[in-house]
Amino acid sequence: MEKLRGSGVTPTMQRLAILEFLESTTSHPTADEVYTAVHKSCPTIARATIYNTLEALTRAGTILQLTMDPGAAHYDADTGPHVHFRCRLCGRVYDIPMKERRCLGDAVDGHQVESVRTYAFGICASCRGEPPTEAPSSMRKRRSSSPKALRKEKGHA
Ligand SMILES: [Zn+2]
Ligand SMILES: [Zn+2]
Repeated sequence: MEKLRGSGVTPTMQRLAILEFLESTTSHPTADEVYTAVHKSCPTIARATIYNTLEALTRAGTILQLTMDPGAAHYDADTGPHVHFRCRLCGRVYDIPMKERRCLGDAVDGHQVESVRTYAFGICASCRGEPPTEAPSSMRKRRSSSPKALRKEKGHA
């Protein structure tokens, strides 16, 4: 609520539901995924409200809009400095902690840097068959149909 007020975005129940969902996940959902999740608790919400609210929150700097995916933008309530990694096989977007914070908040050549966007691309631990060091539960659930499950069965046979 405070976060919304501070951003100049009028807090409504629907906007709160959207922001609360984004803050509860690290899966970097697309607008469609936000709609699917928020619609469960807020059945009257319109798809246009989701899109408009995500735009408003992005403009206000309350959330990040990640444009690394040519298919659809992903959204992130974590506006702190971190790197985004996108798997080219499953399309999932993961956070990578960024220790390098050099530019953030610094004036570079007289320009005030407000955010640094760095995207990393490759094949994620799930698709490679490696156990991820730390994955949110939403990601773990989806791993049941991953190539690892198949490989594991072969290995045991
Ligand atoms: Zn993957
Ligand atoms: Zn992130």
